[in-house]
Amino acid sequence: MTAKIIDGKLIASKVKDEIKAEVAEMIDNNLDTPHLVAIIVGEDPASQTYVASKERAAKSVGITSSVYKYPADTTEEELLKAIDFVNKDDDVNGLIVQLPLPDHINVSKVIESIDPAKDVDGFHPVNIGKMVAGEKSFVSATPAGVMELLKRYDIETEGKHCVVLGRSNIVGSPLSILMSKKTNPGNATVTLCHSKTKNLSEITSQADILIAAIGSPEFVKNDMVKEGVVVIDVGIHRIPADNEKGYIITGDVDFDEVSKKASYITPVPKGVGPMTIAMLLKNTLSSLKMEYS
Ligand code: NAP
Repeated sequence: MTAKIIDGKLIASKVKDEIKAEVAEMIDNNLDTPHLVAIIVGEDPASQTYVASKERAAKSVGITSSVYKYPADTTEEELLKAIDFVNKDDDVNGLIVQLPLPDHINVSKVIESIDPAKDVDGFHPVNIGKMVAGEKSFVSATPAGVMELLKRYDIETEGKHCVVLGRSNIVGSPLSILMSKKTNPGNATVTLCHSKTKNLSEITSQADILIAAIGSPEFVKNDMVKEGVVVIDVGIHRIPADNEKGYIITGDVDFDEVSKKASYITPVPKGVGPMTIAMLLKNTLSSLKMEYS
């Protein structure tokens, strides 16, 4: 079997086109349009790049984007004040605080200070709690992107055995919950694996759907999966290579091997990655419309 490719780049661009069309209609009808604020503290180059690409993507669909930059020595109190200011700004309906934050700032306190109605990253405990309870909430962008890919490719999940590799708060755990919900996609029987899981290959070999989010390059090999498995690879790794760029981008799955057995597979890059920003923009639009996923 040769796997069909789940083209995240294509779906992300469709999602963005849909958002763009909705925002254009809002402008035509003289309605308020979405406004996303990103707060960034410090000079971490990766964070600067992420925020810049979020800003570019927002502008490309007509979403107003503002970036508030603070120096690395900003105190927790100053940051909380800045968040409070944005929380109270009726013109803003989406607020993200780029992580990681400098060590002297308590991340939980910061996340909990964001108005849950503007928490388009879906990290606030209120949104996490609502997601767990199956209520409408902001679902964080990467898990939401995975669910969107399964939906758009019409992949049957009901009654399937979904194995999630990794239990992080931002990827593995929420995905295990979303896949087990009485929804479509969802209604799967879920096994959540982590570093203390025994007989991992035995479990992954039973998966109808395998979601890999462990942060270990090409960890999932051919002999760990069964024929026909649907593979979603969330991992992103830059590996030094002897090519023009000096590196290759790879995921948590050995794509060349596993794609020979899988029915569907997400590539890395151009799989889950592009969906993340698209879903952040979708959350920002939903926030204005007060329609949560
Ligand atoms: P993380 O916080 O490091 O969590 C990794 C999880 O994998 C942990 O639960 C860990 O178990 C588990 N794990 C590690 N090694 C394992 C092993 N050998 N066997 C079984 N489980 C193992 O990672 P993350 O933030 O979820 O990210 C995962 C990957 O996705 C990374 O490559 C990251 O770059 C990528 N990512 C991509 C996007 C995107 O937009 N596409 C977004 C976020 C993350 P313990 O809990 O026991 O330690």
